[in-house]
Amino acid sequence: MSDGSNLPKTLVRRMPLEPGVSRPVVTPIQPSVVYSSESPDQLEAQYEGKDHGYTYSREGHPNADLLAAKIDMMEGGKGGIITASGMAAVGTALMGLLSQGDHVIGGDQLYGRSLRMMTQDLPRFGIASTLVDTMDPEAVKAAIRPETKMILVEVMSNPTLRIADMEAIARICAETGILLAVDNTFTTPQGYRPYDHGADIVIHSVTKLLAGHADVTLGYVSAKDPEISEKMRVFWITMGATPSPNDCWLAERGIYTFDLRYQKSQENAAQLADFLADQPGVKRVIYPGRKDHPEHQRAAKLLNGEFGNMVSFEVEGGRAAANALVRAMPEVAFAPTLGDVGTTVSHPATSSHRLIAEADRQAVGITEGFFRVSVGIEDIEILKADFGAGCAAAAAL
Ligand SMILES: *Cc1c(COP(=O)(O)O)cnc(C)c1O
Repeated sequence: MSDGSNLPKTLVRRMPLEPGVSRPVVTPIQPSVVYSSESPDQLEAQYEGKDHGYTYSREGHPNADLLAAKIDMMEGGKGGIITASGMAAVGTALMGLLSQGDHVIGGDQLYGRSLRMMTQDLPRFGIASTLVDTMDPEAVKAAIRPETKMILVEVMSNPTLRIADMEAIARICAETGILLAVDNTFTTPQGYRPYDHGADIVIHSVTKLLAGHADVTLGYVSAKDPEISEKMRVFWITMGATPSPNDCWLAERGIYTFDLRYQKSQENAAQLADFLADQPGVKRVIYPGRKDHPEHQRAAKLLNGEFGNMVSFEVEGGRAAANALVRAMPEVAFAPTLGDVGTTVSHPATSSHRLIAEADRQAVGITEGFFRVSVGIEDIEILKADFGAGCAAAAAL
């Protein structure tokens, strides 16, 4: 009979690793799902919040907390939550805070899935929603009901890059006590810090510019009021919108270069917008930094000169011209996303706005010749060569 002392202890996890006298410079990835505590007393103290200690990764883990702390710092927020995607952050705010009988107002040009959640999903739970033009404060006011609890806005609309009247909306929210939730994905904390302008809740798709390399899907949500944060946190844990530690680590790495990337991509965007305006067959260019943008003055004031990396433009010639343009551009990826290091171009009529009735698309100017560009950090000459070739091919039809 063996007493067990000679058996290989392959399942013993608490290996007495010698930590050494030096420390890693880079954040370690902590994949552990569970954490072991010293005693039931200790575990209870953790659950009651008297001692800090992780328990189970769905309820929080170091890589998510570190990433949240970084974005909190950028936004001037606190207690941020990292979610498995931007939509999970939108869902955590809407579904974690609203209840049956409540009403929510949203911008009519919000991100497509956010629109869907407001118009298709919330009503199934007895939460009503109204979509309004967020450039028109009177329309926002007119939509308010006694049971209105929240207004969800994006500073810059997608893909037409119009600028919401944030000052008026913040005033309306302050007067009525309605929660102001701002999806700051397009403007980023570099361009706009919602908490400095009256927001109660800030949302990000970290997937986009913050992580910045199109290799992780993550979101962020935080609230000014700790009680609201706690409500969202409990819902987030219950829904299981937990992010992967590996993804959080990649996003943290991306954030170290965020300022540099955003600066460069904005410089490129401004130059590309002017370049596009001079190309044959280009009907219009939309960039908030251009004087011909309808809300240029408002953008200049709100965004402090940080006009963003998004440029939209329209060419003549419909779908055939759109196909020719994309096919003539070897460097720029034709892909329905934004915020990657490299430039991507998307065609809303066949992607984000595919399911919207043609007449409704036309009403906001999203035609078959309409493109949205997420400008990256390449040498501007590469972009000019590609877009020049694309526009020439479209115009030659
Ligand atoms: C992409 C995006 C989202 C959704 O984020 P995912 O990470 O794709 O789930 C929400 N809001 C805006 C403005 C976005 O661009």
